[in-house]
Amino acid sequence: MAFDLLTQFSRLFFPKNCEACGKNLLKKETMLCTDCLYHIPKTKYHELKDNPLNRLFYGITNITYATAFFYFHKASKYRILIHKLKYNGQKEIGIELGRMAGTEIAGSFFDETNLIIPVPLHPAKKRLRGYNQSEMIALGLSETSGKELRTDILIRQKYTETQTKKNLEERRKNVSSAFKVIKPEILSGKHILLIDDVATTGSTLIACAEELLKTENVKVSVLVLAYAEQ
Ligand SMILES: [Zn+2]
Repeated sequence: MAFDLLTQFSRLFFPKNCEACGKNLLKKETMLCTDCLYHIPKTKYHELKDNPLNRLFYGITNITYATAFFYFHKASKYRILIHKLKYNGQKEIGIELGRMAGTEIAGSFFDETNLIIPVPLHPAKKRLRGYNQSEMIALGLSETSGKELRTDILIRQKYTETQTKKNLEERRKNVSSAFKVIKPEILSGKHILLIDDVATTGSTLIACAEELLKTENVKVSVLVLAYAEQ
């Protein structure tokens, strides 16, 4: 019920132009024009158990499945979607892309997952931004997949500096012990779908997964909106 209201509410916020190319939208189009929608550089990683994103985790932590909705190419017009979601207050872009990602993975290995958990932001950062962008993606994903979404189990207890200029080792050190599970009893027996906006080295996802996997009888899979190949 709450989701339905949220959906309708969020649709009101979309302007009349395509969020990727700026072209005028037709009435039946939402957020993206048909051309941009059709050309999203999808990874299709949900169809491959072994893929470049999953390989980031090999030998480090036990991620069951990993996928990204699309590639995060340098010159891509789709980068602006992530930028607007993270820095321009347009949380509805996250919700809509989350819905699309949910539709994309339906019928794949990811059907085995049964609990959606977004990578948390530190409360101070969330206040600053007004929302957690990963939570917005998770909201849309939960809506189209029907999977339960929880934001009260995995928390961020450390305010980390930006990761952008750090190498893998520095990134891992930066986020280690940043996350904490506060209700492990809810996780037991679950196959968690961990959600983030962009994966580059995977260090944030690794830190979250390591914390989630401390509970027995838990599996962790990963879905990110965009994968930036190194
Ligand atoms: Zn467009």
